[in-house]
Amino acid sequence: MAHVPESVTMYVCEHCQVAHAGTPIHVDTAEHRFEAPDECGSCGETAFVALSDWVHHHD
Ligand SMILES: [Zn+2]
Repeated sequence: MAHVPESVTMYVCEHCQVAHAGTPIHVDTAEHRFEAPDECGSCGETAFVALSDWVHHHD
């Protein structure tokens, strides 16, 4: 089974608010970082907010 990083950054689509797991990017042998998906699999929009920022994103 593939190694699963312990903490996956989640991104929330600004349009439909569906959460997506970030795409893991290899930065080193043992390190990953996560990038927002190219587009939302649900609505096709491309604007994402990291889940950790989402709570601050609301007015
Ligand atoms: Zn969406």
